[in-house]
Amino acid sequence: MKNNTLIHIDIMQFQADLITWYQANKRDLPWRKEQNPYKIWVSEIMLQQTKVDTVIPYFNQFVEKFPTVHDLASADEQDVLKSWEGLGYYSRARNLQNAIKEVVTSYGGEIPADPGDLGSLKGVGPYTKGAILSIAYDQPEPAVDGNVMRVLSRILKVEEDIAKPRTKKLFENYVREMISHDDPSSFNQGMMELGAIVCTPKNPTCMLCPVQQHCQAFAEGIEKQLPIKSKAKKQKRIPYAALLIKNKQGDYLIEKRPDNGLLANLWQFPMISLNEMGFSQIPEWFEKEYGIHVTLKREAGKLKHVFTHLIWELEVHEAASNSTQTNRSYAKFVNRKEMEEFPFPVSHQKMMQYLK
Ligand code: SF4
Repeated sequence: MKNNTLIHIDIMQFQADLITWYQANKRDLPWRKEQNPYKIWVSEIMLQQTKVDTVIPYFNQFVEKFPTVHDLASADEQDVLKSWEGLGYYSRARNLQNAIKEVVTSYGGEIPADPGDLGSLKGVGPYTKGAILSIAYDQPEPAVDGNVMRVLSRILKVEEDIAKPRTKKLFENYVREMISHDDPSSFNQGMMELGAIVCTPKNPTCMLCPVQQHCQAFAEGIEKQLPIKSKAKKQKRIPYAALLIKNKQGDYLIEKRPDNGLLANLWQFPMISLNEMGFSQIPEWFEKEYGIHVTLKREAGKLKHVFTHLIWELEVHEAASNSTQTNRSYAKFVNRKEMEEFPFPVSHQKMMQYLK
């Protein structure tokens, strides 16, 4: 990276242009109504990997249900996961609750304003830490995510690969040099807002951009070629049979996933990797593993669940059983109404459309 990129930017003017634009154009979002570090924290965790429009209703119902750190710290984890249901990346919710518990036990319920203390809490990475410190506590800390890296890559014409973890550090250093000490909150939020509504990934609207005069990529007509981002590895595909096993009472078998790893502690319909056994072996496996007799019926449909590193290819099948219970403590038959009490990942919520 060129070390002299910043010398082309009038930093004071850049701050003024960005902040003035942000103040006049910022969207009316629920977490911007007050400077509450807890609510800002919740919103920032929800906004990771998820669009603003999707987050708004989740945020509103979450802070209504858990209005303070004390409410979230003392909540049942299954309730927290249920409130997160559909947002995905459930480890975010678990880490948030664990960190909030630590805030209550170690910091008297006050979210620490010290960067070291805040950054040591579970799930609080450099971005979340910077967002909380700048927005809630007015500290000039960088909050650099993929959007901010895209915008800055263009403004400063940075040609480093933003997919590499070490590149983020370079951008954090740039933001430390550029951030307004008078209003770090508006500066960081202005950068995020610019990335969300003007300097978008595919078609940046440079003609309407408040910092166009500072932008080197625009000056050279290369804004669409930046940022440089190497492609992620192809996800591994795993075929599964997912079974909607209904008994004579009309109840369905559901089970809780293990308490660590992917989608930990969420509930699902039983799924069997078809890489590990053939479809016809499934009834025998159920007999052995769950102590229930299962008859396979017709295929109800196909679904996909895409994760960052793998893809579940789900063949959903109807099945029948005479049993009312299993020999596994984490698997049970429930009726449709009871099912609503359990948190399910999105792909399994979608399977409910096939229930009769
Ligand atoms: Fe992004 Fe275009 Fe603005 Fe540059 S001028 S920051 S490329 S929107």
